[in-house]
Amino acid sequence: MVDRTRPADVALIGAGPVGSLLALALAQRGLNVEVFERRHDMRRHSIAAGRSINLAVSARGRHALHEVGLEDAVLAQTVPMYGRFLHAPDGATRLLPYGRDDSEHISSMSRGGLNQLLMTEAENTGRVQIRFRQRVLAMDLPTQTLTLVDEDTGVQSRVAAPVVLGTDGSASVLRAAMAAQAGAAVSEALLSAGYKELTMPALPEGQPGTHGHFAMLPNALHIWPRGRFMLIALANPDGTFTCTLFLPHAGSEPSFATLTDDAAVAAFFAEWFPDFVPLVPDLLAQFAQAPLGHMVTVKAWPWHSGAVGLLGDAAHAIVPFFGQGMNAGFEDVSWLMTLLDEASKPYDWPTLLAEFAAMRKKNTDAIADLAVENFVEMRDKVADPQFLLHRAVEAELDKRLGGTYRSRYQLVTFTRVPYAVALNAGAIQTDVLAEVCAGKTTLAEVDLDRAEALMRAKLLPYLDGR
Ligand SMILES: Cc1cc2nc3c(=O)[nH]c(=O)nc-3n(C[C@H](O)[C@H](O)[C@H](O)COP(=O)(O)OP(=O)(O)OC[C@H]3O[C@@H](n4cnc5c(N)ncnc54)[C@H](O)[C@@H]3O)c2cc1C
Repeated sequence: MVDRTRPADVALIGAGPVGSLLALALAQRGLNVEVFERRHDMRRHSIAAGRSINLAVSARGRHALHEVGLEDAVLAQTVPMYGRFLHAPDGATRLLPYGRDDSEHISSMSRGGLNQLLMTEAENTGRVQIRFRQRVLAMDLPTQTLTLVDEDTGVQSRVAAPVVLGTDGSASVLRAAMAAQAGAAVSEALLSAGYKELTMPALPEGQPGTHGHFAMLPNALHIWPRGRFMLIALANPDGTFTCTLFLPHAGSEPSFATLTDDAAVAAFFAEWFPDFVPLVPDLLAQFAQAPLGHMVTVKAWPWHSGAVGLLGDAAHAIVPFFGQGMNAGFEDVSWLMTLLDEASKPYDWPTLLAEFAAMRKKNTDAIADLAVENFVEMRDKVADPQFLLHRAVEAELDKRLGGTYRSRYQLVTFTRVPYAVALNAGAIQTDVLAEVCAGKTTLAEVDLDRAEALMRAKLLPYLDGR
């Protein structure tokens, strides 16, 4: 066992997207940061960058990237998505725009590409050292000492640091140490659905289609909503799409448990996604090889103990259906940096981490609940006529209220309004929309004056007061 002491101002566990951004932001404030990452350096080894190949970056993530000076560099590598592109079982398609115009969009980005860019920018500050293949095994809270193992040699070492931050993801070792030694309460709710990722190839060279080398419209998030399950697809700049099937693990038909062989998989896709099948020629081979992913909601409290704190998925892992997990983690970094910038040096880390956690917790709980709800919306409600009527009424309200009306989705995705406010605003909106749309099937039947009056009376004062 090798003992090392006080290697840097801050020891960080995990160089995922949140840890890498945090290291960069801390270095920009003059702090020396040592990061321990259990994986290989993905810039030198071809390894998967963890779960999901691409992800959607939206306003909160963009803001945090802007603060470290990287928004433009990241956006240059993304594919903008302006709405949901729905694929009905009979092959009919329909685009539902996300925002009031194309300026309101989400951006599909390679998770690995983003992670690599952030690591490189962090190292380029000269204040960040990322130690790859160093897995944190344990943490002693009273002495703020980490026990590490070198994944290649098996040699263990100990490192003590004045500040320790855990960005080690949903199965955080630091969170477990807080639970064991500081009595932190942790709940982990596993979703009954799992996921598999498949890649839709680009069209062959020299045979461009309606959308160039993309097999489908690239600038939308494709959804095949099928009630208890769904398929989605996000474009990558190289012309491929990353497609994700979300399906119950077991206990119903169909489920991953019932897709036991090629024949069952082929029959399942032919029945539910016939328009998708010809676009992925090696579908069966890919399906057999794709690992089955699990999704979990983690709620923990407290996130801090002395000068030790949690951020990102380590503090609040959520299911992916609002496209906000990483965005929320990036927003953590942004909020913590705001507190640091308002504080005087030397930083009083125990107080700062306590303030950070207190202001953040209600919001990350809110997005956790919103994300679970959005699974039902995406897999089921987007195909429901009442859902479509609600969206049509909201588009009218937006016009009538001079652009001050924002749907719940827009509040979460295109603004930095706290998630808890978006959750409450969404509840008010749902009540009003349910009332004015009850028994109606078309927009012409809806009393839009009443809808406007109710939103003016109930929603706008709530949002103004925030
Ligand atoms: C299918 C899917 C789709 C998603 N889509 C989106 C999306 O569209 N938009 C969005 O915002 N979010 C999305 N997310 C969520 C997003 O992936 C996570 O919120 C994000 O990766 C969290 O980043 P993180 O850095 O906190 O944790 P992680 O990405 O989990 O990184 C943790 C890092 O810590 C390292 N580590 C772990 N344990 C140790 C240890 N003991 N010692 C040393 N190192 C360790 C890991 O190797 C890893 O590098 C999606 C998630 C899934 C599963």
